[in-house]
Amino acid sequence: MHILVTNDDGVLAPVLLALAQAVRPFGKVTVLAPDHNWSVSGHSKTLHRPLRVKEVRLADGALALATDGAPSDCVALAMLGLLDEPVDFVVSGINPFPNLGHDLTYSGTVTAAMEAAIWGVPAIAFSIDQPDNNPVDVDYSTAQRVVQKVMQKALQHGLPQNYLLNVNIPYLTEDKIKGYRITRQGLRIYHDELIRREDPQGHPYYWIGGDAPSGVPAEGTDIGELAAGYVSITPIQLDLTAHHLLQELRQWDWPGSA
Ligand code: MN
Repeated sequence: MHILVTNDDGVLAPVLLALAQAVRPFGKVTVLAPDHNWSVSGHSKTLHRPLRVKEVRLADGALALATDGAPSDCVALAMLGLLDEPVDFVVSGINPFPNLGHDLTYSGTVTAAMEAAIWGVPAIAFSIDQPDNNPVDVDYSTAQRVVQKVMQKALQHGLPQNYLLNVNIPYLTEDKIKGYRITRQGLRIYHDELIRREDPQGHPYYWIGGDAPSGVPAEGTDIGELAAGYVSITPIQLDLTAHHLLQELRQWDWPGSA
């Protein structure tokens, strides 16, 4: 099995190496990831400029590929034939911040897995709820075992085509993790603030700032179960249709409708 490892934090992010090492027992691993941080870049496709790919070496000496494209470009490049061998499975992450609720449309980690789902290749996005985005000393060994458990199950049962899994891992030691829960997306609450400043020429510029998002920790949701100490596994589809609104909208007396 040929596994593609990508992320949105850049090819040299320590936690990408943790993911690559965790999936090596499952097959041949190719790391192809962005050459810089694309967090919160959403699902993008670079069509207006060329994409460059170069070889880099990971901290453990393994060769990897870095591109100046987005996380979803990494997956597309692989699917379009950049690599010598076809890809059978895509893992993305581990993102050092959870991806919950509405985050999924912003997340480069998750949208890389979405790109794989478009190509019909099974994919899992992994994120960890670590206390600090840039910690000096962080232990990913529990997260690695969670990755392996989820991979094992996904390979054993097979992921349905065109779907992906979004996995959020608590930052806890293995004995403190309560278990694994299959969840739905919860409700994220964003605390964004517009910060307006002036450049040296007196022209205004804007930052989207504010505190990190929180959310409603409802039972059965990714937000609730992660907060309660469970590994949250959410099956994701790309069909964004609000099926429950179809009937209501059809009743709006549209011209040409019966
Ligand atoms: Mn990220």
